Amino acid sequence: MFLTLIVSSVKFNVWRFLVHIHVTPKLEDAIVLLEGTSSDCLISLVPEDELMRRAARITAGAFDFDGTLTTGSQWRAIDDLMPEVLRELGSQNRDWYWSHLHKIGNLPASVLDPDWFHSDLHEGNQKVAEGAWIAETISLYRQAGLTRRDIEDVWLALPQREGACDLLELVDPRVVISFGVEQVILSWLQNLQVVDTAVAALRLKFNEEGVVSGCHINLVVSETKQFAADRFRQITGVAEDQLLVVGDSVVDVHMMHPRGFNILIVPRAEADKKLAGFRTNGIGVMWDRLTAILVSDSLQPLVELIERARATHAT
Ligand SMILES: [Mg+2]
Repeated sequence: MFLTLIVSSVKFNVWRFLVHIHVTPKLEDAIVLLEGTSSDCLISLVPEDELMRRAARITAGAFDFDGTLTTGSQWRAIDDLMPEVLRELGSQNRDWYWSHLHKIGNLPASVLDPDWFHSDLHEGNQKVAEGAWIAETISLYRQAGLTRRDIEDVWLALPQREGACDLLELVDPRVVISFGVEQVILSWLQNLQVVDTAVAALRLKFNEEGVVSGCHINLVVSETKQFAADRFRQITGVAEDQLLVVGDSVVDVHMMHPRGFNILIVPRAEADKKLAGFRTNGIGVMWDRLTAILVSDSLQPLVELIERARATHAT
């Protein structure tokens, strides 16, 4: 009796921080929950028992970086190292890309309009545009004379999302797959002492003086995150249902296998933006791939969910 009481009490202490779990397979219900919730929660698309059984099977992890493991943006942090005039040129490319993405505008009246082609970013041309955007951005880094040291110090401007290191350490093997810079992510991981983590991202090249000179042409962009996730599973031998995937945006759907444990994190400050995305179906397209949505500024609830699943649902 005494022993039972102690065990229950320990369990209570360990698990009492677990967030409330709402279960619904319907996107419409999730939208209502996102609108109405003012506290952290997990919206699961599968029944709670199945969620726990699947969480207990997780051994490996693939993670987005910006907005997921860090609350910062590495592109913005590198931009801040450049003179204003170069920063402005960079933001023009970025603004053009985001304003043309998925825009289905009116066709120009005439092919003699100088922008008859460039006024519209065809979906099929998105990957090409992202690659060119990276090349243009790196050309600005070269003009600014950014060095290896500058790039490796960018991690200082990228705060860890609460629970990020604990989550990374729960899984092995693990990989960070990012439409960002390999060297930035590697130094961030090294400084947080989460070593032995694979990274798939843009690899910068440096000249003999240590100044940015270009990049490896085998890039990772939004849609090609999928190929990095596939290759990671192929090399490590991790089964689809053993892989945890965590991302914060619609592009992360490309890393998510239908049988994987797929989490979209919605930080509280971005709940309205994400809701708008769900309503317009911008994020709705990833709904079927998700296992759950974590509404929180912290990854700690996910850490606790996996720990609890391993303790209670391991087979
Ligand atoms: Mg992200």
